[in-house]
Amino acid sequence: MRLLFSLLLISLQLHAQQRPNIIYIMSDDHDADAISAYNKQFIQTPNIDRLAKEGMRFTKAFVGNSICAPARATLLTGQHSHKNGIKDNFTAFDSSKNTFPKLLQQAGYQTAVIGKWHLRSYPAGFDYWRILPGMGQYYDTRMIKMNGDTIIERGYSTDVITDDAIDWLNMRDKNKPFSLLLHHKAPHRYFFPSFKWLEVFHTKTFPEPSTFFADTTDRGSAWRMQTMSILPDMQLCSDLKVDPQYLMDIPEYKPDSSQINYYHAIMRRVPDSLRERFQEIYAERGKILKTLRPQGKELLKYKYQWYMQDYLACIAVIDENVGRVLDYLDANNLAENTLVIYTSDQGFYLGENGWFDKRFMYDVSMQTPLLARWPGYIPANSTNTNLVQNIDFAPTILAFGGVKTPVWMQGVSLKNLMTTKQDKLSRKYLYYHYYEYSKDHTVIPHLGIRGESYKLIYFYTVDEWEFYDLEKDPTEQHNLIDDPSQLPNIIQMKKELKKLQVEYDDQEISLK
Ligand code: CA
Repeated sequence: MRLLFSLLLISLQLHAQQRPNIIYIMSDDHDADAISAYNKQFIQTPNIDRLAKEGMRFTKAFVGNSICAPARATLLTGQHSHKNGIKDNFTAFDSSKNTFPKLLQQAGYQTAVIGKWHLRSYPAGFDYWRILPGMGQYYDTRMIKMNGDTIIERGYSTDVITDDAIDWLNMRDKNKPFSLLLHHKAPHRYFFPSFKWLEVFHTKTFPEPSTFFADTTDRGSAWRMQTMSILPDMQLCSDLKVDPQYLMDIPEYKPDSSQINYYHAIMRRVPDSLRERFQEIYAERGKILKTLRPQGKELLKYKYQWYMQDYLACIAVIDENVGRVLDYLDANNLAENTLVIYTSDQGFYLGENGWFDKRFMYDVSMQTPLLARWPGYIPANSTNTNLVQNIDFAPTILAFGGVKTPVWMQGVSLKNLMTTKQDKLSRKYLYYHYYEYSKDHTVIPHLGIRGESYKLIYFYTVDEWEFYDLEKDPTEQHNLIDDPSQLPNIIQMKKELKKLQVEYDDQEISLK
């Protein structure tokens, strides 16, 4: 009997070992170029890099619809937007839908989500949740508790969200495996850093991307209609926090009242002890504009540096807080049995084409960072070049939790890629469909397909196609849709796109 019991115990322990705890950290608009494991030109992120050194880095991870709420609904459901119902940032997620957290819960996991939720309905399938209302605030953010009460949490959002996550890790039921979704607000626009890191970054300068001055005049309608260009569309006072008092007498820079109000609103949220120094730093930007009156490309150069200083300072806080979570796992003997994933809800333009924001199916915004660590199971310092997509995240997490991918999920598990039981996915192409046409950045709707070598995009409201050779033209500057030598490739990619529309059951848009 005793032998049987100890065998049972060993088998239970083995089973427990094979089902790791899961911590999924997702930041908002964190481009892979702002992680030093991907690109060392802009910032050092030693803590996020630990996940690459001790785990696997995916170089071709992409999303299916590059904006916030759709990416979050895809994470939960493993489905593209047309199936999960969240095509844009304005629709409420139907919380009665089945999701991976509900399935993990049924499989015995304790589940939690802490931080940005952004789905306009309360979380379901979680034993614990605490979320930002909408996008929340950078300083002294409000948070919604499970009982529906809204509280203010003092401090900087990235620190506060991590504090809440660590509190939950301490108070969770320690007899069950857990799955924690830790979702940061940062570095979402309006990029507002914490004081410590603003002091470090505000004097730094960053290299301009090779396509910084890309001329969009001969491009298709989508390029010409977008309003996500740093030069005309990024606002001095609200986006870049230039102190408005220096700009009031200069007609070409004069901010409107909403920008001035925004500037003062964020300054009011800064802790009293730090406000003066914040204001000094943002006054320096105003003094430069007032003295030098830069125009055109010169103004673009200044705006870009200020954008990068603020954006990257936000990332530095995230990196520091990823370190806090990893240290917590080390200190609490959890590192060995916890799968840690780091990703973003999508990529982000850091000046390429002169742009900020996301939405486009071009690689900059379609790509997302993806790092995964589970010591002993995922090989350290490994790189994976398979085409993977955010529809795969739910099936992957479920697989680690011992749950088979349900048939209604559209992604595939990446577990065997991560544990190197599999080299290649059989899927050769990724599907993309962007729907939202809002006044924010006026990116027109499009769908398309990305393979290893080529990308085909259809901007259907204007009936325009784009085709890119990703090997020869990785920055997607040359639309080859009218190039006769590409015709066989274009025909092949259209065929594959039609196949994917059928496979994913997204056939509303006729391709002609
Ligand atoms: Ca986002």
